[in-house]
Amino acid sequence: MAIRLKLGSYETVRNDPVGRTHIGYFPRMTEQEAWEAGRAMWKMNADKARRQRFALIVGEGIVRAVGEITDLAEHDIGIGRRIELRGQVLPEGHPVRGAYLGQTDPVANGSQNPVGYCELSEELPFLHRPCACGCGKEGDRDFLSGHDVRAIQARVREHFAGSPLKFVQWVDQTLAATPAARQPTR
Ligand SMILES: [Zn+2]
Repeated sequence: MAIRLKLGSYETVRNDPVGRTHIGYFPRMTEQEAWEAGRAMWKMNADKARRQRFALIVGEGIVRAVGEITDLAEHDIGIGRRIELRGQVLPEGHPVRGAYLGQTDPVANGSQNPVGYCELSEELPFLHRPCACGCGKEGDRDFLSGHDVRAIQARVREHFAGSPLKFVQWVDQTLAATPAARQPTR
């Protein structure tokens, strides 16, 4: 899922915990301005927010910025805790930015709550998932760095007496014997 945050009307602010002098939407704001206006001081569930990787900043019904969340901070403002998202605007060419920037708000739930959540099919390749080597850690690739080699080596050790040659021969023989198992190659 991703977070959708709706900008309110433009207003100047003082003593903003993240140092802004104004918040809210104004016409022709840049992506960076929309992200700064929209990334902070939300009343939202920190644990749920922490699980999201992308945030859509919406102004007047249109997505004005798509940000990647790298960290999150909580601020006690006296009347409760507010969440600040940290991260950066997605660069040009990023598929999640390409799919949503300038489009209408994908969260159409009729709620007045500026904080909403939505599933984005484009974000799936970027979401954190368990490393396929079985180490129990998570990353945004099939394997953490180097763990693909580790996973293959473990199988060579376990099933081929530590011999890469036997492993390669087995792959070749298996594919030759069962054409259906052959994967299409580029
Ligand atoms: Zn791993």
